[in-house]
Amino acid sequence: MVSLALYNAYNRIPLTFVSGKGSWLTTDKNEKYLDFGSGIAVNAFGYAHPHLVEALKKQAEGIWHLSNLYDIAEQNAFADRLIAATFADRAFFVNSGAEAMECAIKTARRYHWLKGDTKRNRIITFEGAFHGRTLATIAAGGKDKYLEGFGPHIDGFDQVPFADHDALKAAVNEKTAAILIEPIQGEGGIRPVPYECLRGMRDLCDEHGILLIFDEVQCGVGRTGHFFVSDAAGVTPDLMAVAKGIGGGFPVGVCLATEEASTGITPGIHGTTYGGNPLAMAVGAAVLDLVLGDGFLDEVKHKGLIFKQKLAKLVDENADILEECRGEGLLLGLKTKGPNMAFIQAARDEKLLTVPAGTYIMRILPPLTVLEDEIDFALSTLEKACQKVRDES
Ligand SMILES: *Cc1c(COP(=O)(O)O)cnc(C)c1O
Repeated sequence: MVSLALYNAYNRIPLTFVSGKGSWLTTDKNEKYLDFGSGIAVNAFGYAHPHLVEALKKQAEGIWHLSNLYDIAEQNAFADRLIAATFADRAFFVNSGAEAMECAIKTARRYHWLKGDTKRNRIITFEGAFHGRTLATIAAGGKDKYLEGFGPHIDGFDQVPFADHDALKAAVNEKTAAILIEPIQGEGGIRPVPYECLRGMRDLCDEHGILLIFDEVQCGVGRTGHFFVSDAAGVTPDLMAVAKGIGGGFPVGVCLATEEASTGITPGIHGTTYGGNPLAMAVGAAVLDLVLGDGFLDEVKHKGLIFKQKLAKLVDENADILEECRGEGLLLGLKTKGPNMAFIQAARDEKLLTVPAGTYIMRILPPLTVLEDEIDFALSTLEKACQKVRDES
């Protein structure tokens, strides 16, 4: 039973998990569930991965927290490795995706401000986007449901339709500081932005001297079989928000920036108490060991392809229940004909956990370490879920 001492902010599923190993969770009633939600793309290495447990334990014996008043060895080391593996020259560590986004937004505004371009403070965003739940990030996301009752709303975001280059072009003006986009919308329903659109955005930004911000909080860190979608698209953003998978379950976020884009943030201008503490940094570094390990991303690509082919076949064979399979790597979505909840619950009744997005999408986000026979178990479960939804309608 959910305690009444908690905010009534969630409609929680009445399952209590007491342990986890790999892709599996076990309830207090000793029932096993295959977790293809991964704490919403956070548990990229499933539960109790030995390398992550070891890294956490080792650091737990040392220093947990130091203020950013001091030089933090673990933070330097993790930043150096991130910079070596990405487009970025600079990193600012935080504890969540929304904070990484806040840092990106502040960095972009301040960049133009410091150059004397004080009117350039608006950011173009896209319909269906999700950037977090802080006041600025709900304004950036622009979704009415998340904004309602939270006014006055933060100004400075101009939303355009998804993947509409003409609308985007028309929206850029002398007040535009940046374009902000999730290369694959997660909460918005696993909607990939075509690579040529991302390239078009880069060109548009260069043409107008504005910054390109990627929100790879959900699609980054190996989720698609690429370290970041920006790598696969061959598009270099100026700023990028990263979180979820980068901590493998420990709260870690980071805003990555080019040298140029980061120039506005000078000592005392932005800060965080917890961000970049040694415990988080030790786990993040261990995540990098795994994601960037030999052949790991190729393996994710391979499993993603196999999974997607099998899901496409499932959609073909159950066209009365399912409409489409989409996504990239292990960031997959099934579009249902009827509301997604009946299908998601039917799968859960068969011991498969997934995550909804909107009204018609089942998000399928297995741990990146998922085994092929677990993928097959999921498929047979989804097959049963189709039958169950069919029987009940
Ligand atoms: C989850 C998510 C966020 C917010 O992350 P939090 O850690 O919940 O603050 C931001 N952007 C995207 C794309 C996300 O999926």
